[in-house]
Amino acid sequence: MSIRPFRDIKRRKTKEINVGKVKVGGNNPISVQSMTNTLTTDISATIKQINEIHSEGADIVRVSCPDEDSSKALKEITKHIDVPIVADIHFHYKRAIEAAENGASCLRINPGNIGDTKKIKEVVKAAKNNNCSIRVGVNAGSLEKDILEKFKEPCPEALVQSALRNIKILEDENFDDLKVSVKSSDIFLSIEAYRQLSKITNYPLHLGITEAGSFIPGSIRSSIGLGTLLLEGIGDTIRISLSDNPVKEVKIGNEILKSLNLRERGVRIISCPSCARQGFQVIETVKILEEKLSHIKTPITLSVIGCVVNGPGEAALTDVGITGGKKGNNMLYLSGVQSKKISTKEMIEKIVNEVEKKASELENN
Ligand code: SF4
Repeated sequence: MSIRPFRDIKRRKTKEINVGKVKVGGNNPISVQSMTNTLTTDISATIKQINEIHSEGADIVRVSCPDEDSSKALKEITKHIDVPIVADIHFHYKRAIEAAENGASCLRINPGNIGDTKKIKEVVKAAKNNNCSIRVGVNAGSLEKDILEKFKEPCPEALVQSALRNIKILEDENFDDLKVSVKSSDIFLSIEAYRQLSKITNYPLHLGITEAGSFIPGSIRSSIGLGTLLLEGIGDTIRISLSDNPVKEVKIGNEILKSLNLRERGVRIISCPSCARQGFQVIETVKILEEKLSHIKTPITLSVIGCVVNGPGEAALTDVGITGGKKGNNMLYLSGVQSKKISTKEMIEKIVNEVEKKASELENN
């Protein structure tokens, strides 16, 4: 059971492309990405981090390939993971070719940075031969010199012009298996650039507020920026950029999508902030439950409410609910209906059991 979305988001229709086994654009779910921050040449550390990012719920993982050893390391890395890899390339076209040949499913590269047409042709050939898509990744911090001179400063029009220029270079080589990003650390600039771009291209858009900062400010900036665009139906894949563990980027990305009813995954806990009326320690209970229920991937709702003021109402709308009662007499709700009283001591164990039971019921249906 879940609350019916008050407003459904009408997503803008884009071209469907493949990033390995993940389809991006079209009617496909909005995918969540993150990026490793290990040395790619440290193969075991990179595999470990990719798998951590993937098991948190990332659909795609990006890996930097700053040198030949890194792009070649992808060959071994991709043997030990089950998630598509985007190779992040800057400037050197040979890294792109090596990455495509060594297992990358997508190349993040701006053809305008590669140099002459011969090199671009070689990269496109390698991408085509290895079923690699390409992300044109425009960033306000690294706009082309002539565009910056023309517009005087990074502005939405400048980002869009750079994106169109890079798209055209690829289209001229008959390559259109691509997605596009126009990122900036400024929320207003990013939003406007994506809005403008979405009106003139149907390539899937990769959303991000780049260099958004540390965990709390970065999550808030990303939620505002990406949330605004997603509410307008713009965006096919997202990446949260935090100066923090990439696993947290995935957590935030998924929470943004879950909040907008654009993704259903795992337990969604509805909990109150707690106050003097609480029948049990709500904050601690929620922390423990989040941890103990993190393995569940089936979409389930759980309400954890400290007292009868809001408890029964929230429990009526969730799969499993607990409402605090006087002297530790808390009420358990299943599928919105009162089930039984449970003491605070046994509460966590019982809730975990009920949520796991409900998850396996839903999985088997
Ligand atoms: S639901 Fe009850 S315990 Fe929770 S904040 Fe509201 S009044 Fe306080």
